[in-house]
Amino acid sequence: PHGIQTILQELGVRADNPAYSTGLTWGGEANEKARTIHSPADGKVIAAVRFATAEDYDQVVKTAQAAFQTWRLVPAPKRGDIVRQIGNKLRQYKEPLGKLVSYEMGKIMQEGLGEVQEMIDICDFAVGLSRQLHGFTMHSERAAHRMYDQYHPLGVVGIISAFNFPVAVWSWNAMLAAVCGDVSIWKPSEKTPLVAVAVQHIVQEVLKENELPEGVFNLIIGDAEIGQLLAADGRVPLVSATGSTRMGKQVGQVVAARLGKALLELGGNNAIILTEHADLDMAMRAVVFGAVGTAGQRCTTTRRLIIHDSIFEEVKQRLLGIYPKLPIGHPLQDGTLVGPLIDQQAVEGFTKALAQVQQEGGTLLTGGEVLTGDAYPTGTYVTPALVEAENHYSTVQEETFAPILYLIRYSGDVEAAIALQNGVRQGLSSSIFTLNMREAEAFLAATGSDCGIANVNIGTSGAEIGGAFGGEKETGGGRESGSDAWKVYMRRQTNTINYSRELPLAQGIKFDV
Ligand code: NAD
Repeated sequence: PHGIQTILQELGVRADNPAYSTGLTWGGEANEKARTIHSPADGKVIAAVRFATAEDYDQVVKTAQAAFQTWRLVPAPKRGDIVRQIGNKLRQYKEPLGKLVSYEMGKIMQEGLGEVQEMIDICDFAVGLSRQLHGFTMHSERAAHRMYDQYHPLGVVGIISAFNFPVAVWSWNAMLAAVCGDVSIWKPSEKTPLVAVAVQHIVQEVLKENELPEGVFNLIIGDAEIGQLLAADGRVPLVSATGSTRMGKQVGQVVAARLGKALLELGGNNAIILTEHADLDMAMRAVVFGAVGTAGQRCTTTRRLIIHDSIFEEVKQRLLGIYPKLPIGHPLQDGTLVGPLIDQQAVEGFTKALAQVQQEGGTLLTGGEVLTGDAYPTGTYVTPALVEAENHYSTVQEETFAPILYLIRYSGDVEAAIALQNGVRQGLSSSIFTLNMREAEAFLAATGSDCGIANVNIGTSGAEIGGAFGGEKETGGGRESGSDAWKVYMRRQTNTINYSRELPLAQGIKFDV
């Protein structure tokens, strides 16, 4: 279907071409350590992948540790050059890789290609960064003394990623880690291992061409058990974990118990505020893309729409005009805007949340069906739902990873809307649509949005890689990607050098011996 076998061939994802540095073979029969991967688009088997054992894991860590000895000595701009070559290879493989992302994860092809573009963009960013890993120079209080800070490579970085951005999240971490002089071990989601194998092949081609050890970028396929090994492993100074808040609480505690560093990128419960001063034509595009794009399976998906009383009916009617016409179908089909959910469990989560919110007093306005028939053979296609609800409902307080948009009414001034926006446990992305300067600034002030991302006249989803990405509260507090997020991948050292003939003590302390 859709030439998927050709795509796998093009990407070198073949049973006779085992993923490097994992010691694993795959593509054969499923055994007790293997899983069969089905496409959520048509339910067909793509391949069987063998999962790693604890012994495999140990071998991968050793390979990574050995590679670190070499890699940390390569000058940072030269490490940047390797990342540049990875970016170029990703450009070359963009089309087949984007299609495989789409077919294995279920997002539409445009978004699959967009995900690969994001990988290319972070490579470009990291190349520039490789010449800008600066620290500060400070003035010493002591004469003829120099003081500065510098950043050194940290070591082995563990990367646990979620199914919904099966490759981009890895690149945000791995490309920064690489220019910082770290080596990485990637444990992708057990739901989307094939794209990870494909990416590993691309990266290994570059390492081979440059005669670098394969352990600079490592891949380990497995489920939560392998993730737990990474979290507990003292040989892994930093664990970057993307996924549900439930997972983050477990990983965060295990890493903290050994005083390691954790970078947590967890669930969101993102809202757009529409004030009476909103440009509604602009806002509608942002709301619909944010709520139904990737079938509601982005961490930044718009889940709550907080609408001023005076425009509530108009907004509701406009959405009711758009929702029933959304093209739902095979993600690789031209024109599709909404693909399937990842699996049956996600569908159950969707229908359960809709039943529960109605029990709590919510009104289902449209959508909420599970589609059947020849065009929808997997039972994973649903119609995006619009629900009139109140912010305090327990269903609204949770992140349901599916296309449900809650319409929430507010009256009075923008502070009332901000209180609703902040009135959840998660703190990832937030947005306001207004042409009123006071409202916009109130939203961005210290008393405004409490999220890691706060946008004006832009929706909640679709962040650029140049900014630091992440969120507060139960979203975990981590920051990845742009700005100065690189600092977490390095260890900081303060150096003071005395080039005088004296030994003055700081704080003017007298200590004559
Ligand atoms: P998940 O939590 O089920 O799994 C994520 C990853 O964690 C997988 O690789 C899984 O194997 C691993 N894992 C699970 N339990 C673990 C444990 N106890 N120890 C170690 N590893 C463990 O999440 P998912 O369903 O794949 O992804 C959806 C979730 O991810 C949503 O909540 C979404 O908001 C979140 N997400 C957040 C961001 C962000 O940047 N903030 C980005 C993408 C997705």
